[in-house]
Amino acid sequence: MEYKSIAIDGPSGAGKSTMAKRLAAELGYLYVDTGAIYRTLGLFALWRGVDPADETTVRELLPQVEIRMAYGEDGLQHMYLMGEDVTGEIRTPEVSDAASKVSAIPAVRTFLLEMQRELARKNNVIMDGRDIGTVVLPDADVKIFLVASLEARARRRHAELLERGVRTELSQVLADMEERDARDSGRTAAPLRQAEGAVLVDTTEYSLENSFALMLRTVRERLE
Ligand code: C5P
Repeated sequence: MEYKSIAIDGPSGAGKSTMAKRLAAELGYLYVDTGAIYRTLGLFALWRGVDPADETTVRELLPQVEIRMAYGEDGLQHMYLMGEDVTGEIRTPEVSDAASKVSAIPAVRTFLLEMQRELARKNNVIMDGRDIGTVVLPDADVKIFLVASLEARARRRHAELLERGVRTELSQVLADMEERDARDSGRTAAPLRQAEGAVLVDTTEYSLENSFALMLRTVRERLE
């Protein structure tokens, strides 16, 4: 059986995961959050006291790491690192930073590529990340590039962190995001960019509802 795939890429805070989760529920597809995989590896570097930006040492960690993904009864994608459920632990600003650093290392990207493709071979997927439409699933049935202004994304991320009890300043969230944006877009290994054939959706001025309606329409049109 031939499975369908939908690739959603864009910078952090553009609303990828919110949109992708809703689309997945609507279409009955599996939602795959690839950022969580990079976050888990970033956390591993932190656990081992390794600088996530140090290519040589991070490469040496790869044969030792055991990362697993499973979908809980809650329907959520749980991440396991060395057998331990780290689903909550990977959502801190420190891990965001570590993930962005390890993800710039080409060996890391190659190491995690097959795990992502395997999921798309066995399921109808909506996968979100930075390089899904360009590298992981270049033949995806639908590709969306989801963007929003830096300010809008920082405001959303800040509210989300406060809601989860992580106390930070908006200015700090904005600065961190700007730094991560520059790293994700400027790296040589699979930089963040709009894939060929990807539909651009800008959520800066759109409400969540309008953005979702637009994406659902785009997806339906292209899946037909
Ligand atoms: O999407 P999220 O913010 O959880 O991703 C964490 C980090 O992982 C990003 O800043 C990015 O550097 C990296 N990433 C990536 N490629 C992906 C998904 C995430 O490089 N497909």
